[in-house]
Amino acid sequence: MKVHTYSEWEKYGVVAGYSTDLEGLYRYNEPEDRTHFEELGKVCDIPASRMIRLHQEHTDKILFVDETNGGEGTIREGTPEGYDGLITREKDFMLLVVTADCTPVFLYDPTCGAVGMLHSGRAGTMKEIAGKAVERMESKYGSLPQNIQCILGPYLCAKHHEVERKDIEGFYETFTEAECKRILTQKGIKYYVDMGEAIRISLIKKGVLDTNIKDYHVCTYEDKSLYSWRRDHLPHKRIISYVCMKGL
Ligand SMILES: [Zn+2]
Repeated sequence: MKVHTYSEWEKYGVVAGYSTDLEGLYRYNEPEDRTHFEELGKVCDIPASRMIRLHQEHTDKILFVDETNGGEGTIREGTPEGYDGLITREKDFMLLVVTADCTPVFLYDPTCGAVGMLHSGRAGTMKEIAGKAVERMESKYGSLPQNIQCILGPYLCAKHHEVERKDIEGFYETFTEAECKRILTQKGIKYYVDMGEAIRISLIKKGVLDTNIKDYHVCTYEDKSLYSWRRDHLPHKRIISYVCMKGL
């Protein structure tokens, strides 16, 4: 399995990245699907029994996990339903989300040693899952938002994220008019959604520093090594994004 890794977090002992060779998957209950997680485990030196992957349901709910959740969604079923974000302080324990145009959001707090992995699709972004994850890290671990580091993984860029008015009502409910102007571009009856900008606004509103949010603007539609639902319409193929705090 080929992966793109975020080398800037290596100095903290944090392994983070995403699959790039179209070997991703969606299901996990077929034996052949499990091999992908095992392959990822070999690349990252983490067994699939110490990984967790959610069902993902476009919610804004965050699940705190530890080693008792190991293997859920990767080599066994039993993953709690109704969540789209994972946070842990467990070392050598890998958090996964799968996407194909939605935004994988990587979080790391070097002060409390927590990592987080979020699935922020349009629905989750409209519900500000990223900002809620920051709040949860504050309340659970005493994280200070200004210490939290974020990376936005590959997602469908605004140019390719064309939708209709009915698809974006949630932005007007959650964000101010000025914020919506930054997130949404209207051309005729079509709207173009800047997911990265929306997530950035959510994070900054909760106290995360703009300079601590990295967005490499990799578009899933344009980068042919990545799955794009908009481009490919492959129901069982997804990019796997992962984050893990390594023990010593
Ligand atoms: Zn694009």
